[in-house]
Amino acid sequence: MNAQVTGVIVVGAGGAGLTLATELALAGVPAVVLDRLPGRNLQSRAGAIQPRTAEMLALRGLLDDTLGRSIDYRLVGGHFAGLPVPLDYAAWDTRYPHPVLLPQDQLEAVLEDRLAELGGQVLREHRLTGLRQDPDGVTVTVTAPDGDRTLRGRYLVACDGAHSSVRKIIGAAFPGEAATARMATADLVLTGDVDDSTTGHISSRIHTSPQGHFAMITPLATGLHKLILSGPRTMAAERDAPVTTEEVREVLQATHGGKVDVAEIRYASRFSNASRQLEQYRHGRVLFAGDSAHIHSPAGGQGLNLGVQDAFNLGWKLAAVLRGEVGEELLDTYQAERHPVAARVLALTRAQGVVMGPQRDGGVPELRDVLTDLLRLPDANRYMAGVMAGLDLCLPSPDAAPHPLLGLRMPDVDLDLGDGEPPVRFSDLTRTGRGVLLDLAEAPLAAAAAWSDRITRVRARAISGSPDAEAVLVRPDGYVCWAGGAGLAETLTRWFGPAGRAGDGTSG
Ligand SMILES: Cc1cc2nc3c(=O)[nH]c(=O)nc-3n(C[C@H](O)[C@H](O)[C@H](O)COP(=O)(O)OP(=O)(O)OC[C@H]3O[C@@H](n4cnc5c(N)ncnc54)[C@H](O)[C@@H]3O)c2cc1C
Repeated sequence: MNAQVTGVIVVGAGGAGLTLATELALAGVPAVVLDRLPGRNLQSRAGAIQPRTAEMLALRGLLDDTLGRSIDYRLVGGHFAGLPVPLDYAAWDTRYPHPVLLPQDQLEAVLEDRLAELGGQVLREHRLTGLRQDPDGVTVTVTAPDGDRTLRGRYLVACDGAHSSVRKIIGAAFPGEAATARMATADLVLTGDVDDSTTGHISSRIHTSPQGHFAMITPLATGLHKLILSGPRTMAAERDAPVTTEEVREVLQATHGGKVDVAEIRYASRFSNASRQLEQYRHGRVLFAGDSAHIHSPAGGQGLNLGVQDAFNLGWKLAAVLRGEVGEELLDTYQAERHPVAARVLALTRAQGVVMGPQRDGGVPELRDVLTDLLRLPDANRYMAGVMAGLDLCLPSPDAAPHPLLGLRMPDVDLDLGDGEPPVRFSDLTRTGRGVLLDLAEAPLAAAAAWSDRITRVRARAISGSPDAEAVLVRPDGYVCWAGGAGLAETLTRWFGPAGRAGDGTSG
């Protein structure tokens, strides 16, 4: 059997896989996306994206489509463990200071449309069943409707979710904590006194009972509601057991005193608070992104965001390696930058599980009160807002005394390009997926001309929120990797490869 050959085999067309595939397609790297399902997974899962994910989608011009599919419901700030103090995301200088309520499949639809525009495609009903790697690439066996096929890629990225086949096939350990709590989620038709207001804080939507029932109801489009529930019956249910009307009704009765009832369940699934993470995200030519690399409870709405941001981090690096511009060592920065982020999310979701849990003794109610008081302090609130929004991330820097902007996200400032046209946003300059050298000083940075085949050089004047530097070099994923001073050529070489012989590509 002759193998179809490609650059990257992406296994899984969820949020992580589709983001990665669009990034590779944008960079002109051939990739094949496989998914075992015949279509998008419509199960009730993630319902919100956080501000940093919104910013990253804006970097590629994908946010307007995403907002167009979002639910017209403005959450007042974020939350930690459902405590009744909104987290003030606006303290982090972002254009998107609130979670965007969006069913997960709608984000996947936006990404898949973009992938198609870029000439990519998802091979549906293609289940990966075998994998073998050698020093030059990865060969996989795929079961498709027309029989078994063999594909070969130079790299494979496993975005195949929490129960990753790739992880199992290569025998990668997935250490962590087993489930101690079971919950369910359902998209359903509710009757009775349902809170349909289109603003407010998530804490007002969480209802519990002394017997350990939990219900969080948020409105979805088209008259449906999303319910996250738990209770004694849910805790005891088998993972694959259907979520029944009786189970939902019992929870609603206990938490809403009969004021709300269920008329119809459209989609429902069960999940747990199991918490695990791969030690290594790279195993030779196989890399992991999204839930295949880390799982945790959905408390705080982080999983999809993590996966999308993993993919934004990895995509441009993998493309640069495949185009032969940089060596494979660039891929090691993926592990260094993304593993600690997920490790922190795992820790925080475990902490939230304790605070949100049904426990009414052992100091847990007092812990809730202490944390609630702490979150009323502006500094504590800002800290936690940055964590939950994904806006506080500072990537590790090799410099002993890094510039304060190094490793931080580049704010989406308004820029005057001096061309007599209306101002543009920084995110208007990143649609191509290239790095951007933003020259805010009087003199252009001629030193970077030899990289103009890989980066976009822009001379501009910042109109709002000027970064505190005369020039910044921003990676394709929106993080500052140089901020004036010495070392520009070294930094360009590190992230984009040695100087080429390209012409002067400055747009300023
Ligand atoms: C109730 C609930 C609420 C949640 N709420 C939020 C939230 O508000 N915000 C948030 O950020 N996250 C949330 N999450 C988490 C989020 O759903 C996941 O983190 C997210 O789906 C992970 O995306 P992924 O692309 O890594 O994996 P997945 O979305 O699981 O995609 C994996 C894909 O791989 C495919 N696949 C698997 N095996 C194979 C194979 N052998 N061959 C080919 N294809 C294969 C699958 O068909 C699937 O399409 C929630 C989760 C749950 C359960």
